[in-house]
Amino acid sequence: MITMILMGPPGAGKGTQAKRLVNKYDIPHISTGDMFREAIKERSELGILAKRYIDDGHLVPDDVTNAIVRERLAKDDCQHGYLLDGFPRTIPQAMALEGITKEINRPVQFVINIDADEKELIRRISGRRVCKVCSTPYHIDTMKPKVENVCDVCGGPLIQRADDNEEALRVRLGHYYEQTRPLLDFYKKSGLLHSFDGTQDLNVLLKQIMSLVEENE
Ligand code: AMP
Repeated sequence: MITMILMGPPGAGKGTQAKRLVNKYDIPHISTGDMFREAIKERSELGILAKRYIDDGHLVPDDVTNAIVRERLAKDDCQHGYLLDGFPRTIPQAMALEGITKEINRPVQFVINIDADEKELIRRISGRRVCKVCSTPYHIDTMKPKVENVCDVCGGPLIQRADDNEEALRVRLGHYYEQTRPLLDFYKKSGLLHSFDGTQDLNVLLKQIMSLVEENE
């Protein structure tokens, strides 16, 4: 069983590493951002509520976010592990997660923090494109698809996320530094935190994370 959290500012490369890690370890990829975007596409009640926050770069309220994660982690496919991407993002979410993982008897083993400086984050986010269908991330200069604007994985069209604009990014980074970064201390104290340099080669970073997991599994 492998249970892990991927943390880091927007643009650090969480989504890219998450896709690779879940393939390697055959565990579900639980991205709260993807879950909200899915709900927005479906125009469900959750989607209508979440859109108001997401488009401007604000965080969706904790009670709403905690509830969708509680429901998701209770599903059968999480019995052999999970990878949380983009959750928790606040101290109350981390505390709720402790309760949830106790209930399901599958505590978090690894908190992987991927970091990069602000200039690099802005460069990555402004050139980011994602597959509309499977949300695989690309970059217009450094991670191009084989065929322009077409996803290598599923053939879906590539789009720019509504919140990947300069104004929303500034708000998202503000939330990250004020609300999410304090979680690093929270997890450091519990001995679960492992930090990595997100600016290095993607394959090198993947290998470093996998070595850590495999040495401590
Ligand atoms: P992401 O795809 O992780 O960058 O998330 C996109 C947006 O979804 C964020 O900017 C928030 O508006 C919302 N979101 C995702 N995860 C959370 C969370 N754990 N708590 C609150 N809002 C979230």
